[in-house]
Amino acid sequence: MIAILKQGTTREQIRLLIEWLAKLDLDVHVSEGAEVTVLGLIGDTSRVDMDLLGSLEMVAAVKRVSEPFKQANRKFHPKDTVVQVGDVKIGGGHFAVMAGPCSVENEEQILSVAQAVKDAGAQILRGGAFKPRTSPYAFQGLGQEGIRLLLEAKRQTGLPIVTEIMSISTLEVFAEVDMIQVGARNMQNFDLLRELGKTKKPVLLKRGLANSLQELLMSAEYIMSEGNENVLLCERGIRTFETYTRNTLDLSAVPVLHELSHLPVIVDPSHATGSARLVPSMAVAATAAGADGLIVEVHNDPSHALCDGSQSLTPAQFSELGGKIRKIREAIV
Ligand code: PEP
Ligand code: MN
Repeated sequence: MIAILKQGTTREQIRLLIEWLAKLDLDVHVSEGAEVTVLGLIGDTSRVDMDLLGSLEMVAAVKRVSEPFKQANRKFHPKDTVVQVGDVKIGGGHFAVMAGPCSVENEEQILSVAQAVKDAGAQILRGGAFKPRTSPYAFQGLGQEGIRLLLEAKRQTGLPIVTEIMSISTLEVFAEVDMIQVGARNMQNFDLLRELGKTKKPVLLKRGLANSLQELLMSAEYIMSEGNENVLLCERGIRTFETYTRNTLDLSAVPVLHELSHLPVIVDPSHATGSARLVPSMAVAATAAGADGLIVEVHNDPSHALCDGSQSLTPAQFSELGGKIRKIREAIV
């Protein structure tokens, strides 16, 4: 971190500032130019309140020169992390497609979709049991019963499962779940992230509706700093001024996150677009951009789905998409 001082700052003021920074266990490198003096802060600057430092009378600007995320940072861990979900590997050249309905609705639905996505080449089954709905009057998911049905689908198909947690109070219900999803609305539920960090379960961490990539990485850091390194980052579209699509897919998040972090990057083209017509192109584009996997909503009868039917592919559409994805993968690896 560097602090650029205002012109005219006296030696005594600099001495007092260095003394104050030393109390935070920081060494200071002073670089005196003809007009401005720059202080280089050496040590663990994560404890420095940048706004407070910047608000001091003598300080013109404060800039971070190293990222505040450490464990998720590629600089400290150059090799790609490979996360194992059941016997499926993701990251470091391993690509995985997760698919299934937005919500588990009943036994017949989840079992038939599970079989269909497996036949179409998906490696992991998705399905929401605890649903974060905008309206309290909308279908809230089957809860624990939904997880039981997902486990039954896992037993019948052999596919590992990923499903969303909303509250830490339900963690024990997830004991046999292969990967826990933290949804966009909970990306900054820091208590939840910390508790998941104490488990060893893979966590699919979705980017918040209005969160920067650095904030996503800081949330991953919450999980990792508690000892769980099995984190996957998921770009699922962000809210912009555009209303034609449900969200705006930030595809550049894929190469940016790969540059900044060693964690696998997954793209969700379903929530990103909100429209089944747009899902195949965005899934193909995300694959071409180097995503380590996709999470796609598939429903046996989208027009009657209890949640997100408009963005759900039919099994036949998903199967057709699978063929395209495989061709893109062959072309880029
Ligand atoms: C979901 O995966 O069904 C979901 C609610 O996703 P998001 O948190 O990205 O909106
Ligand atoms: Mn959904």
